[in-house]
Formats: sequence, C-alpha cells, structure tokens
Amino acid sequence: EHKKTLDFIRQIIAEDLRTGKHKQPVTRFPPEPNGFLHIGHAKSICLNFGIGQENNSPCHLRFDDTNPSKEESIYVDSIKKDVSWLGFDWGEDLFFSSNYFEQIYDYALQLIKMGKAYVCQLNAEQMREYRGTLTEPGKDSPYRDRAIAENLDLFERMARGEFDEGSHVLRAKIDMASPNINLRDPIIYRILKIEHHRTGDKWQIYPMYDFTHALSDAIEGITHSLCTLEFQDHRPLYDWVLDTLATPCHPRQIEFARLNLTYTVMSKRKLLQMVQKNYVSGWDDPRMLTISGLRRRGYTPASIRNFCAEIGLAKRESWIEMGVLENEIRNDLNPSAQRAMCVLDPIKLIIDNYPEEKEEEVVAKIHPQNPEMGTKTLPFSRELYIERNDFMENPPGKFRRLGPGKEVRLRYGYYIQYASHLKDETTGEITEIHCTYDPESRGGSSPDGRKVKGTIHWVSAKHALDCTVHLYDRLFNVENPDADKEVDFLEHLNKDSKLVLRHAKAEPALATLPVGESVQFERQGYFCVDSVDSTEENIVFNRVVTLRDSWAK
Ligand code: ATP
Ligand code: MG
Ligand code: MG
Repeated sequence: EHKKTLDFIRQIIAEDLRTGKHKQPVTRFPPEPNGFLHIGHAKSICLNFGIGQENNSPCHLRFDDTNPSKEESIYVDSIKKDVSWLGFDWGEDLFFSSNYFEQIYDYALQLIKMGKAYVCQLNAEQMREYRGTLTEPGKDSPYRDRAIAENLDLFERMARGEFDEGSHVLRAKIDMASPNINLRDPIIYRILKIEHHRTGDKWQIYPMYDFTHALSDAIEGITHSLCTLEFQDHRPLYDWVLDTLATPCHPRQIEFARLNLTYTVMSKRKLLQMVQKNYVSGWDDPRMLTISGLRRRGYTPASIRNFCAEIGLAKRESWIEMGVLENEIRNDLNPSAQRAMCVLDPIKLIIDNYPEEKEEEVVAKIHPQNPEMGTKTLPFSRELYIERNDFMENPPGKFRRLGPGKEVRLRYGYYIQYASHLKDETTGEITEIHCTYDPESRGGSSPDGRKVKGTIHWVSAKHALDCTVHLYDRLFNVENPDADKEVDFLEHLNKDSKLVLRHAKAEPALATLPVGESVQFERQGYFCVDSVDSTEENIVFNRVVTLRDSWAK
C-alpha cells in the first residue's frame, strides 16, 4: 500500500522502541457498542490495527461498555464483523471494559481510602452550578470533606442498590479551581439501575468513561492509547488516575485529528436518528457512511484502507472531500472490475433490415485495457434497447450519438444508421427508434474504413435481464450539515439522494453476478448487486460510484 514518511504517532512509537522504553507497542481500538461503525472509526481502526500489523504486535479490540442504557449485543456483533471485514485480526482475545468492573470497583475503593474520592449528593443542577465555568473557578461540594469511613459506607451502599439513580455519585477529589474543568472533581461512578448486556443486573453502579478508559488501558498493558483530539483536555485526568493509583503500567495517551468528511455526519447518535426516523433504510443503507453501508454500496476493504492511508494523520482538525473517498474505490475497481452493458433508461431500437428470426453472438472484451481477462459473448438480435438519452430528435452538430442523419456504432456490434422514430401522440414521448445496420461492420469497423465517431451501449431486448438500479447521490445538501448549531442537521438532508430505476435492462450474464463483486457498466459507473433488496425475481444493482468525480466543483 502507501509508503510515506512516518506520521507523528508512528515516529513516537519508533522512538520508544529504539530507546527500549517498550519492546513492542500494544494498541487498542475501543468502540462503545452503541451503534454501527462509520468511516471515522475506520481511520482509528487502520491506525491502531495498522501499528499492530507493522510491528507484529497485539492490537486489542475492546468494547467500552460502561453505559448500559445505550449498548446492545447486536452492536458488538456488527463491530466485530466490520473490523474483520476491513482486514484486521484481534487475535485470540476480545476485551470488554465490563470484564474489569470488579477491578475498577476496587480501584475506586482505593481512591476513597487514600482520601482521593468522595460520595457527593448534589443534584445535577447543583453540580453544574458548583462546577463553575471556563472563566470562573468551581466551588467545593459540601460533601467534599466527608470522612473516609463514611465515604466507604456510602459507596458500598450505592453498589448494593440502596439509593436511587441520580441521588449519589462518587467523585474524584482533585481541584475545583483547576482551569481544566475535567479536573474539577469529576464523577467517576454513578448509579444506574439498568441491565447490562453482559453483566446483567449484577451492578447498580457503573464507572464513568474517563476513569474506566485509563484503568482498562493500564490493566491490558496498552503502551500507546490513541484517541481523537476532543480527549486532549481529558488527558490530565487520564494521567491523574494512573499516577494516583498503583496500576500495572501508565500508557501514553496521544491525540490525533478525527476524520471529517464533507456532505455527511459522523456521529453515531446522529446516524441513529436517521435510522430511527426512517430517513434511510437502516445502518447499512448504501448512502450511509457506515462500514456496513459502504460494504453494501460496493466499497472494498482495500479502498477504505487506502483512503485512511491517503488522508494520513494530523494534529489539527481538517475536512476531507468526499471525492477523495470516491477516488479510492474507483482506483481499486478500475483495473479489476469486468465491463458489462446495462441500459438504465431503455428505449426500443429496431433494426429494420436485420432478419426477424435471426440471433447471433458478438464477442466483447471483459476488460478492454486488460486482455488477460479474456472475452465473452453477448446475444444480438433485431430488437435492442438503447439508452433514451443516446437519441435526440434534433441533435446539435456535435452530438455523437443517434439521431436523424446519424450513424453510430453499437459497442462490439454493428454500425447502425437512423431510419425513423415513433412518438406517443398525447405525451409526445418517443416510443421506438428504427434503424438499418451495415452487415459488413460486425465487431465495430467496416471494410471501407469509414469513420463512425459515436459508440453506444445496448442489450438485446429478447435476452435482456430486467433489473432495478439504484443511483445514489450525497445524503446532505451542504458540506457540513453540523455547521450551524441553530439548524437541525436533518434540515440539510438531500431529498433526492436515491434514484430508483425500475426498468433497467442488463446483459443476461449479470443474473449470476455474485454479491460483493462489482462490474463497470460501460459509460455509467461501477455497480454491484444489492445484498438486501435483490430477490429471486428481481436483481437490484447499486451504483458504487460514477466513472468520474461528480463532486468536483
Ligand atoms: P461517535 O461520536 O461517532 O459516536 P465515538 O467517538 O463516540 O464516535 P467510540 O465508539 O467511542 O465512538 O469510538 C471508538 C474509537 O473511534 C475512539 O478511539 C474514537 O476516538 C474513534 N473515532 C470515532 N470517530 C472518529 C472519527 N471521526 N475519526 C477518527 N476516529 C474516530
Ligand atoms: Mg463514544
Ligand atoms: Mg462521540
């Protein structure tokens, strides 16, 4: 794949190996199982698992499952599927933060015994008030100086379920005047009387993200804990937890810029809203920038890995154009995808001088630039379908397709000369086109060497595979649907992001195209079989991507 100079994280790791600080890096990808993974997660997966592959060292897949109100096993399963589909291997062990609930609880008891944590009974509103603001320091909670024994007793009773949700929390005792709000006695445990998808009703209290994350990293012996920039302000808390407690090691947290991609949103919460409100057909809707959506759309694992390598790693936020992602799938499919013909918006073409009962087979190249892929045959007969927009009643001079006075080449077939066309009297719609063919031009050239400039695609009417084609466009009308906090991102949804063509006609061999394999419909783009909407009776093709960058401004 790509060979560039080392990014800043790989440089740090290389230096740590060189100085002997670590024998090998141990990284982790820590998704919360509260939704499906998206292309932003792919960046983190390629980074963490990529470092593992390059160093032949472990990368843990760890489910950060400390918020049972939003987490479900179906998400665990989908995340595993997506990570392995992307080409990564987490080895023998799967990790779950919930596996450490017992240890994390013990660490909390230690903090209390050290006088570094206390049970607080301020309600949510008071808590906000006491916390202060960016410009004003916070105030100490009236519960801050409780005796250690009282804290231990209250915390144990919280764990036994004696108190209501929201009535008590455990807070780290750090510094209410810290300029970093994350250090103003952050909550480290809360009461939640919710069943957990793995630990059931064993726990009535759950540790908070920052506390759990630092401890899970240390318990697992992670060396470099890589996360996105919004956690930069949490790093002092991460370090405080690990410095204060006697943990097995102290991993180094390093932040990098998250992926922002134009014309999409990248938060599971927002993606979930789109699913729940039926703006899309599900997490795997081919328009969604989820891994499952991209897979169904026809993206390959290599194209996504190459994309992540291409965009690189930076310490500052930036935006990536959707066209960059599209280019990667084009680059991946162009050399490998077989070429085929499919008429998306068909109109009948009748060859008046072609014998009625005659049928023949013409030879087509599977990939014109790659002769090694060989050839195939296509049925040809008197009645064909061509693309409606390949015909014009009053063509301008430069029109290279069919119209009165024009001669064009049928791809791999014959030269045809316009004869006449029929129209529906009432609608004015053209209903069929008649032409004559030159029997001498079989294969696409004639003995007299005359020039025919235009070449159009076609399928034999009698043999055509009836199919449905889905054309996709961007999901949102604006580059950054989140830009204006006053306007709901859903207001920017593109209502025309999916076009359904129900009368498409494809070459018959496409009936057996396997799911997961893409073809290039000549002149149209790359297409694959939709794994969900296709039925025995009707194949549905998704347009993966157009032939050229349609995003360029
Ligand atoms: P979201 O806000 O979309 O729900 P998240 O950060 O809450 O994402 P997690 O499941 O907690 O999702 O993330 C797992 C890992 O993926 C984290 O290390 C997180 O930093 C990383 N990640 C999430 N979104 C992006 C992104 N857009 N670019 C790069 N990494 C990301
Ligand atoms: Mg999260
Ligand atoms: Mg988030």
